[in-house]
Amino acid sequence: MNSTVNVKYLLQKYKSQFDEAQATVVNTKSARHDIYVEMEISTQTLREQQMRALKRWQEEMNEKCAAKGEEAILVTNNVDLEGPPVGFRFISDRFFNDPADYSPVDQNELKCECRGRACRSSVDCCPQLNHSMPAYDVFGRLVPEHKGPIFECSDLCKCSKTCVNRQLQNGRQVTLELLRAQSPYQWTVRTLRDLKKGTFVTEIVGEVLDLHEAAHRLASYGPKHAVTNLLELRYSDGRPRYALDKTLYGNIANFIQHSCEPNLEMRLVYSEMHEEAAPRLALFSVCDIPAHSLLTIDFRPDPAHYDDSEIKRLKKSGLDFVLCNCSANRCRRVLWVDSKK
Ligand SMILES: [Zn+2]
Ligand SMILES: [Zn+2]
Ligand SMILES: [Zn+2]
Repeated sequence: MNSTVNVKYLLQKYKSQFDEAQATVVNTKSARHDIYVEMEISTQTLREQQMRALKRWQEEMNEKCAAKGEEAILVTNNVDLEGPPVGFRFISDRFFNDPADYSPVDQNELKCECRGRACRSSVDCCPQLNHSMPAYDVFGRLVPEHKGPIFECSDLCKCSKTCVNRQLQNGRQVTLELLRAQSPYQWTVRTLRDLKKGTFVTEIVGEVLDLHEAAHRLASYGPKHAVTNLLELRYSDGRPRYALDKTLYGNIANFIQHSCEPNLEMRLVYSEMHEEAAPRLALFSVCDIPAHSLLTIDFRPDPAHYDDSEIKRLKKSGLDFVLCNCSANRCRRVLWVDSKK
């Protein structure tokens, strides 16, 4: 970390102490110099502690990734002294907050008779049995014409584990970097390799809640946090029954930031015997993405665009809303508006 960053950081973190110290000492150059030196030393100690904590965090995450057959994650912070997020637990798979909620009564048929790797060419594989079309091409990439939920093969199918109709269930095969960004200071995610359009990047995991619990959490988080962290699982034309909360538990997807011009899209996936109302959330690239690019998601896809006068009107209306500050050229400026009132 260079000294400009140090001083900037210190002035933020220790401003009160600094003001206090400056007020009590005689305002001479040498006294101020001493304070800086002292702070410089404590910054170095903090930096060492931070590096150790980040390394431990990286190891913990990668142990879980390896156990699931997923690629490694690299953690990098060269901009501030932030360590691993406090209170956040890295998990490999989503789970139901109340397991009693999970009652797979209306299971979809994910059971094909295709042998070996025949699923791709078969006419009655899992997608067709669910009135859909094959979602993946021969390379396992999402085909552009595919719309709606994706029906992957399951353990009940006769095909092999390497059948192309299994992407989400095989886990993330893309090496990603958790990178601390500077404006604003936040964790972001970069791909470390080139991604072709349609590549499965990662699942979004977290706690699956019923909507009653989700409403409680929405009230306690407030809309600004909830808009990107509490995601309703909207399946077919049914009323959503569950939401996914990635506040306390999650995987690397948790650190992918919003953009109104994202390079990833969220898709619903069924990949096991399951409850229809609880599809999984998968992220696929919507374009070719060069290595070292930041990955972004549009958490609230919406064609609406807001200008200054509309924002003014919103402010007067008394409706809850969340402004967007993403750096996209075509930022919608408003991420979410409460339509219920
Ligand atoms: Zn099949
Ligand atoms: Zn298959
Ligand atoms: Zn199948």
